[in-house]
This record gives sequence, structure tokens and C-alpha cells, in this order.
Amino acid sequence: MKQHCDRIIRAGVLVTQDEQRRVLGDAAVAVTGDTIAAVDHADVIVAEWSTDAVSDLSGMLVMPGLVNAHTHVAMTFLRGLADDLPLMQWLTEHIFPVEKHLSAEIVEVSALLGCAEMAATGTTTLCDMYLIEDATFKAVDRAGLRMQGGEGLFAFPSPAYACIEDAFELVRRQHDRYSSHSRIRHAVMPHAVYTSNPEMLARCAALAGELGCGLHIHLAETAAETAQCLASFGKRPIPYCRDLGVLSPRTTVAHAVDVTDDELEILRESGICVAHNPVSNMKLASGAARVPEMLAAGICVGIGTDGAASNNGLNMFTEMKTCALLHKLRYADPTCVPAATVLDMATTGGAKCAGWPETGALVPGAKADLIALDLSAPNLQPLYSAVSHIVYAATGHEVTHTMVGGEFVYENGRHTRFDYPALLREVASIRRWVQKKITG
Ligand SMILES: [Zn+2]
Repeated sequence: MKQHCDRIIRAGVLVTQDEQRRVLGDAAVAVTGDTIAAVDHADVIVAEWSTDAVSDLSGMLVMPGLVNAHTHVAMTFLRGLADDLPLMQWLTEHIFPVEKHLSAEIVEVSALLGCAEMAATGTTTLCDMYLIEDATFKAVDRAGLRMQGGEGLFAFPSPAYACIEDAFELVRRQHDRYSSHSRIRHAVMPHAVYTSNPEMLARCAALAGELGCGLHIHLAETAAETAQCLASFGKRPIPYCRDLGVLSPRTTVAHAVDVTDDELEILRESGICVAHNPVSNMKLASGAARVPEMLAAGICVGIGTDGAASNNGLNMFTEMKTCALLHKLRYADPTCVPAATVLDMATTGGAKCAGWPETGALVPGAKADLIALDLSAPNLQPLYSAVSHIVYAATGHEVTHTMVGGEFVYENGRHTRFDYPALLREVASIRRWVQKKITG
């Protein structure tokens, strides 16, 4: 007798990212609730499963939703505001002065715009740190995406809190609110070494341990950060964080660009994950993270876009291609970081970075987070290798369907959970507000 499932999705080509990295032609996925019940050739699924809902994606390439392992999704409102500047000057002269006046409303609208971009370009999960994160949680929840998020914690007041005591209270409230949410998980997120102090970082590490949640921090992003850390605390950023208890298997560090051989060993020993941000690192000329060496050492690496202010997009397809190209150039080796490795980083690797290890692969028991790409797009023809096309040929704009937890949140160019034209009107009014702030 057949088993019943909620939906069967037929795929022309199915990239599973399972342990054998199988790519199946004429395949299908059975979904029950928010979970994948079975994955196999279409004839096997149809013989074994019954359903009232069939999605015929037989002209499509179906694959796991991509994971954006490090972003500040609400920064879409700063997209293109200031480009072509060094990190510290860019932050202190252009980003922080506008962010000082942030409101929950601006964060929520901007985060929803970011979600629209991500859903339309095949990202199903994001790891997000920002100011007034409550508003981002709301936007992501509304968009139907999956996230790990946390309030960006600074040793000085932010628009979300007046002092660090208030900040820690806010973090506990956020943790409680999302402790049993089906798509949202919370993590403790100190912003960076150069915006915190030792007491605060040690407290963040202890709190993440107490709450049993992730910890996410920008770390070793630039040589300037290292110089500042040495001058202030007498240590380079990675040993400094290790000595404060910040580096543990629950930790994901974003960037890890300025890293010595000894520090690579510290990262490996501590069991942290790295969120690699190739476009942001290139745009701010921060440098190239030692990704091939991290992978060879067994460190889990995911890929992130960083915020739209330093990218300027949230498109994981462009990020994957840039990742593959950057390391080939840096190591002068065309075999370096091949397509399959990049795809692993953007799916299973990112899933671990973002605290959602049960996503990133289409296997029974995993969350039903998947995307479909239209194989009739001229740039995806002819098709010899699905993985090659995903990393080197696709732009993200071939994405026709984005499913999170068994629900289509984006379908044939339409966002199913919110009014996109209305959102655009709100974004235009935020642009006018930003322009007023700049001109004073
Ligand atoms: Zn960042």
C-alpha cells in the first residue's frame, strides 16, 4: 500500500547534496509537513507515495535552497550609498552615521526587501546580525524564509539598547521568543573585536553556552583590525578571542581573512565554522581568506554575501562563482576550490554555519527547503554537469520556485507571502529619508 505525503515535486534534474552527492535525472521529492519524506527516481516515488498535490518541475533543475552564512539583510537600504572606500572609513563616515538614526520600521522594510531578493535568487536560509534585529526577525518570518539571527552587540549604545545590560536583557528576550519557532533560531552576536571589550566578549561566550545557542562574530576581517586589537589588547584577534572563550564548536566567525598558520590551527582545534564572504572581502580589499587551507584542515566553511552595502547584492549564485574564481586567482591554481566544493560550502557547509544542520541537502528527514531553476534558460544549455552550471553559469535569475519548510514562498516570479509592489513604495520612502539624513 502507498504511503500518503502532502506534496510530490517532480524534477527534471535533482541535485541532492546527499552523502554520495547524487544527481538524479527524472526524479521526485515527497514532502510531508515541513520535512522531506523521500527522494528517488520519479517512477519509484510515484509507485510508493500518494498525494493530492503534485508540482511538475520536470523542466527544472531542483536543488537544496542556498544558505547565506553571513549577512545583514536590512542593510539593503544602504545599497549603493557609498562605494569604493576602505572598511573603517566606509563604516565610520558613511554607514554608522546613517545607522545611528535607524528605526524598527526602516529595518523591517529593508529586511523584507532583502528577503525578496534572496527568495528570488534561491536562498532559503540566512544567518543575520543587525541592529534592531527584532524587526528583521519579523520580516524574515513574514517572508517565510529560515534564519539564525541575533542582535548586533556593541560596547556602546545602539538604536536597540542604551547600555550593555539592556543589550543582554534584549538578547535573552529574543532567545525566549524564538526558542520553539519552526524557522527562526536565535544566536548571541557580538559585532566584532573592535566594537566590544574583553568583559563583554567573555560574557557573550558564557551566555551562548548557558542558552545552548550559536555565537556569531566578525573576526580577523582586515589587517587594520589586527593592528587595532594588538594596540588595544596586546594580542591578535584570533588568540584574543580564544583566550576569552569565544571560539567553540557553537561559534561561527565571519571573514577570518587575516589569519596566520598558528591561527589556522587555533580555528581548527576550536571546532568553529567560518562564514567566507568573497565579494565583500574583494570590494573592501580586505584580502582573500585561506579557504583551501581551511577546508584541507577540516574546518567547516560556508559562504555569505555580507550586507548589501558592501556587496552590493544578496545573491548566492554570484557569490558562489566569485568564491571559485577568487581562490583560483589567489593560489594561481585552476584546480583550486572546484565547483562541487563551492556548492558544498553554499549548502551543507552554510547550513552548519547558520545553525540549521538539518538543511542544505535533499534527503529524507531534512527540512523541505529547495529551489528550482528553469533549464530552458539559454545560459543553462546544453547541460553536461548540473553542478558546473549551478556555480559557473547560473545567475540566480533562473530561479522559478523557492520552497521553505514545504511551502512555496516564491513561485514563477511572485512572492506568495507579501505584496511586492507595496514594498517597493515603502523602499522609495526610505530612500528619501536616507537622502535627507545625508544632506543634514
Ligand atoms: Zn558582516
